Amino acid sequence: MKAKELTADDFGPGQIANFWSKVVLRPNGCMEFTGSERVKGYGCVEMKGRTSRSHRRALAHRAAYAMTWGTCPSDMKLLHSCDNPSCVNPVHLTPGTQAENVADMMRKGRANMGSMKKLTSAQVKDIKARYQPRVVTATALASEFGVTQSCIREILNGRNWKNT
Ligand SMILES: [Zn+2]
Repeated sequence: MKAKELTADDFGPGQIANFWSKVVLRPNGCMEFTGSERVKGYGCVEMKGRTSRSHRRALAHRAAYAMTWGTCPSDMKLLHSCDNPSCVNPVHLTPGTQAENVADMMRKGRANMGSMKKLTSAQVKDIKARYQPRVVTATALASEFGVTQSCIREILNGRNWKNT
């Protein structure tokens, strides 16, 4: 899928309603898109086709940004401040350059997922989704996933977890 400029006009009322009906609010404030269409781990949504040759799908987080703020230029990268690729919460999406995007990924330890890490990215996502203060505690999650409490805290704080 080629990146292209998105605007709010690229989506019809039915497509917008359909999109937000597939978004689930998580306790940590993330809004996860649960649609089944995926490209590289990111959700995809239908767009209005302007010509028969136009791309009819957009990445979900870019679509959410365009629907909310009116436009999402094709050369603008959106960083997930929450480090959750499924998240489409417009306030968690920060415009940045490609270089910033790479630096951000390195900092968060996602670019270099080797054998060092004990947890899969799915488990990390699960931990983030399930954590609730005083209900599902860091201690409980640590013993369930066989890692230290500080590891859980690092994950919840969005810091590098690959070496723990
Ligand atoms: Zn988020």
